[in-house]
Amino acid sequence: MSKLSGKTALVTGSSRGIGRATAIALAREGALVAVHYARSQQAAQETVALIEKDGGRAFTVHAELGVPGDIDQLFSGLEAGLKQHTGQTTLNILVNNAAETSTGTAPEDLSVEEFDKMFAVNAKAPFFIAQRALELIPDGGRIINISSGLTRVAAPSQIVYSMTKGALEQLTLHLARHLAPREITVNTVAPGTTDNGHEFWKIPEVREQMSQTTAFKRLGDTKDIANVVAFIAADEALWITGAFIDVTGGSLLG
Ligand code: NAP
Repeated sequence: MSKLSGKTALVTGSSRGIGRATAIALAREGALVAVHYARSQQAAQETVALIEKDGGRAFTVHAELGVPGDIDQLFSGLEAGLKQHTGQTTLNILVNNAAETSTGTAPEDLSVEEFDKMFAVNAKAPFFIAQRALELIPDGGRIINISSGLTRVAAPSQIVYSMTKGALEQLTLHLARHLAPREITVNTVAPGTTDNGHEFWKIPEVREQMSQTTAFKRLGDTKDIANVVAFIAADEALWITGAFIDVTGGSLLG
């Protein structure tokens, strides 16, 4: 028996990057995965195709987050997909992964619009996704919030992004206490520099410089993160809740 057989999962932002690797890892363990995307429909379909090629089950769900009606749109697609594949709307695992990232803006130059957009997608949406998901998550469920090692170091050009992730980590802390009576665990998984396939990571100087920030002197691979999420999602990880799980390849060791 695979560790997640009979379970269902929603991974937000799984059209590409860490989200895609996470969807693949959960499906490999037997979960039926809802592959959520906003702009990258083709990439989301590719994620589903990769899962199916591997013998897994998945379907796509579309919703741009951080705009009015986002949660309703996400859950109407999710519930329809779950019903179609399982005859029910039970959701066992929620991975709040989708995020707006920034290549860096000096604190002096940040606009109110950028600030609001980042908070809307990275902090407000995960809260209301979790709130709505709780109507579908049975006892023993899992909520996993993807933060960043940047909440533990000073990076002025990433100030607002880091603030949003700090807020997300608070969601983990308080929901973990709130949901413990139902044995629903809530954890933060914090990646460090991870090659998510973007052009940025193909620049040799960037790869070299960022590799030096990890203890292993290489960039993180999306699988490095996905494997940890899959572990936390399994029943055997019940005794971990409210945790900040450093998956930065030792970047925070100093
Ligand atoms: P990515 O490759 O840029 O992918 C981001 C995903 O989020 C995409 O699937 C994208 O969907 C979705 N997304 C972005 N904005 C959205 C919006 N407004 N509404 C709905 N979906 C949206 O990101 P990644 O590098 O894999 O990062 C995944 C997570 O890890 C994020 O939470 C990020 O903060 C965190 N993280 C990453 C790193 C890193 O080095 N890569 C380091 C620390 C933490 P579409 O393409 O369909 O729009």
